[in-house]
Parts: sequence; structure tokens; C-alpha cells
Amino acid sequence: MTPDWSQRRIGTGSGVDGLGVTVHELDSGVAGPTVLVLGGVHGNEVGGIVAAGQLAQTRWPLRAGRLRVVPVTYEAAYYADSRVGPGDGLNLARVFPGRPGGSTTERLAHLVGEELLRSADVLVDLHTSSPDTDMPLFAGCLDDGSAAANRAVELALAFGAPMVWTHPRLGPGRTLTMARDLGIPAIYVESPVGGVLDAGYLQAYVSGVRGVLVALAMLDDAPVGETLSLWVHGDGDADAISQVTIGGMFRADVALLDRVEVGQIVGTVVDSRARPLEQVHAAHTGHVVILRRLARVSPGTPVAGIAPARPELLGLPSDRLVRTSGACRLSAKGGGA
Ligand SMILES: [Zn+2]
Repeated sequence: MTPDWSQRRIGTGSGVDGLGVTVHELDSGVAGPTVLVLGGVHGNEVGGIVAAGQLAQTRWPLRAGRLRVVPVTYEAAYYADSRVGPGDGLNLARVFPGRPGGSTTERLAHLVGEELLRSADVLVDLHTSSPDTDMPLFAGCLDDGSAAANRAVELALAFGAPMVWTHPRLGPGRTLTMARDLGIPAIYVESPVGGVLDAGYLQAYVSGVRGVLVALAMLDDAPVGETLSLWVHGDGDADAISQVTIGGMFRADVALLDRVEVGQIVGTVVDSRARPLEQVHAAHTGHVVILRRLARVSPGTPVAGIAPARPELLGLPSDRLVRTSGACRLSAKGGGA
């Protein structure tokens, strides 16, 4: 019999104070992994929120394990349409594992970490780009050689996004960082046009989580199709993000995912008469994975992030992505997958 969703509140809050969350759970009743899906760690990233909500409306025919979905992880930030906590200004994705006696954001991180993440076997954290800056559709994860990270890479591939971004290390305070410390495989997802509900990206998120459940043998279904076309590797945060040093209006001179050489012009800051004030150069050779969307910039605004292709890092041609039975692997010329 197909299981049905149950719903419960954890924490003490009633919504706007941000100290409680609603957890939707689908339990197969059969032993297996617990998959935790978070939306709305950033309250203004509506794509992840609505995708998670849609997941929790679907009666997946789970054959093992349980699926836990929190569509709105930071409710107070969601109601304020804010990336950060409206009370303390803190970014929930930078304060894990949180503190029980801390500020609202820190206490929420502690609640989610202790009550949900600690008991999960896999984490899927659904984000989107910010309303001012685009990132392509991708699944990202740690890739540091640990067993949990190796499993996370498999799950990132199983998500079926056209791009995977693996990271040699993680910055402090992220959900993925706490998952790493707990030995839990964890992936996160991003997509462009943050702040917009795009039907295609919503569908990609839902179908991606389905692909993760299939890879975990929790669902009997076909894997997500072979869609990987780019695998980049590098730090996801501040690494290789070019900033402007002057105020004005930023005009991108490249497109998302374009391949650029180090030093190449990726954008120009212009004034109201279209006169160039500053040119922005690629800090690395690689692919454009972060690109400022809104024109207005001030000194220090990050505008373009470049990540190197992983095949090239390994000395392979960038098209050397070998697809085998739904999973994609890198392969040396003539070698096996
Ligand atoms: Zn986010």
C-alpha cells in the first residue's frame, strides 16, 4: 500500500519568530535510509521552497526508508522575504550547528541540526540563486575523498542536473558542513532566476529528488536521464569571484556557463552614458558559474565566479565525461569508466 504523508511541528515557534518548523514525513514502514530535504534555509529562495512543498504533496510509492521534507526551514526569513534572519541578520547557512542559547538563527540551526539532520542518512538542501545574481542549475557537494563525500558525489550525479559542482572543502556553518562532521552524505542544489518560480526548474528539483530516491533504492523507478554536460570542481564560496571596485551599472560580457580564460573580460561597469568605468576580468580559467544579474553595483559587489572544469584539472579533455548506465564518470582516454 502506498504510504501517506504525516505532518508535525518541532520547536516552539509559531512561524514568524522562526523557532519552529513543519516536518512532512512519508514512511514506507520498511527499514531503509532517512532522506532529509530542506527548502527555505534562505527565506527568499522561493524555488526550493515550492519544490519541496510539491515533493511533500506527492505520494511517492516508497519501497524502503522514509522521506522527511521541510519546505520552509527558516519561517521568519520566509515571511520577511529575506535571505537572513530578520531579527539578528544572520545567515542560517553559515551558523550550523548553531547554539541552544544563541540568537534566533543560531537556535534554529541547533534545532534543525539536532532534531532532523542528526537522524538523517542523506541530506538534500534545495537553494536557488539570489534575486540579484544567477547560478546555473546544478547539484553540488563535498568531494574530499571521504566515504560520505564519495556517496554524495554519486547522489549529486543521480540528481540528474546538467552540471555538478564538487568542492574540495566546505566553509564553516553550512548544512553540508555539519553533515560532513556527522559523516552524512549531503548535496545542495541551485538554479538561475532566483525569486522567480520557473516551472522547468521546479520540475528539475522534484525529478532530481526522485533520482536520489531511486539511487538509494527507496523507489523502483527509472533513473533521471543522462543529462550531465559539465562537472566543475573548486570552492563554492569566495574563491575566484571577481568583485567590482567602483559603483555604477554592471553589464555582463559573457553568459552563464561560458568558458573563459584567466584575465578575460567578463563584464564592464558603465555609467549612465554607457561610458566604461571599469572592466572585470576572470580570476581563473574555467566556466562562468556565478554572474551578477542586476545592474546596480557598489564597490566590493561580487559579479562573476569562475570554476575550473574537473576533467581539465585531471589533465583530460573537457568533453571527457563517460556515461555508463545512468551514472557519469570521468575517464582517461581509452580507460574504463
Ligand atoms: Zn541559498
